[in-house]
Amino acid sequence: MLLLIPGPVQTRPETRAAAAQDIAPWDMDFRPVYAGIRETVRQIAGGIEGEHATLPLQGCGHFVMEAAIRTFVPAGGKVLIPHNGAYADRAVRLAGEAGRRVVALPGPDTRPVTAEEVAAALAADPAISHVAMIHNETGSGIVNDPELIGPAVRAAGRRLILDSVSAFGALPISLAAHPEIDALVFTSGKCLEGLPGMGFAVARIESVTAAAGNAGSWSFDLSDIYQHALRAGWGSIRFTPAVQALAAFRVALDLHDAEGGQPARLARYRENARVLHEGVRGLGLTPYLPWEAQGPVIVTVHQPADPNFALQPFVDALKRRGVLISNFWNTQAPTFRIGCIGAVTPEDMRTAVAAIDAALRELGVRRREAAL
Ligand SMILES: *Cc1c(COP(=O)(O)O)cnc(C)c1O
Repeated sequence: MLLLIPGPVQTRPETRAAAAQDIAPWDMDFRPVYAGIRETVRQIAGGIEGEHATLPLQGCGHFVMEAAIRTFVPAGGKVLIPHNGAYADRAVRLAGEAGRRVVALPGPDTRPVTAEEVAAALAADPAISHVAMIHNETGSGIVNDPELIGPAVRAAGRRLILDSVSAFGALPISLAAHPEIDALVFTSGKCLEGLPGMGFAVARIESVTAAAGNAGSWSFDLSDIYQHALRAGWGSIRFTPAVQALAAFRVALDLHDAEGGQPARLARYRENARVLHEGVRGLGLTPYLPWEAQGPVIVTVHQPADPNFALQPFVDALKRRGVLISNFWNTQAPTFRIGCIGAVTPEDMRTAVAAIDAALRELGVRRREAAL
């Protein structure tokens, strides 16, 4: 089965094989593996030794994003969230439920937020201490660019939390060039092509140290994870981790490096996205985004206008042809979504385009363009 969802992604057999063992996380053989993962991840993030630390947290992306918001935005403090997609919706809810005051900066999910919009929102409200931004919006496929937004946050003297869950490992970022970033957040199961189960924040040590006591939670406190590392060592884990996911992640990181690191991964994903975007247009379908706004992680496509189209039967028909896509959509208009990330190639995308064509024929979908 070709898994074309934007996480958890299709993995390589070597990665999955590394999970097929029993492991004691505190064992002396495993400690260097865990410490090594933290080091590799900091390097991919362009973090500086002694200035940035990798702070892993068990669980999914929302967990580590909540931990970052709780740790860095003081309780009752204000956070600006560019609100241009489904994952921004989630960040808004998550920060609000954590008791932080949210200023949502509304925007369509078909274009990135601009530096001017962020600068104006920050200038209008001096009580905002942080911006929390979705790097790649996994709902629609747009990319909010930290190279544009970071300088606006920096110029305003505020801090940035970057949800890079569906971007890190593929889209470029260097923490050394972004002193405004308190934390860059991601998981094991997206562009780094590991198994799901672990979240990571690469955080600025100065900020983590200053944030002690903010979180209002022991489980979701990045500063406690940092303090634990200082006390017990970088190979030590506070609570039981998804240790098989960590073992697999080590292999996935080595495969990332062997492929040529972030630039090579981005190039493969971009080509995946290009083949898909061009392919669905060739079938008479309407991509949700114009190519100029299309990021490399997920291609969303308007649902065809034909009344014979329904999402679940379409997903089932694709699955019978060996291609599995999401059976839900979360753009502002009805779409279906195809992930371009994971251990998949442009050739796989051509297979997917052919399967989409065959599935639409099977369902009797003739009017393929969007009902706009
Ligand atoms: C996948 C994702 C998350 C986290 O999702 P989980 O299901 O909690 O792992 C957060 N933000 C973005 C942008 C994502 O793509």
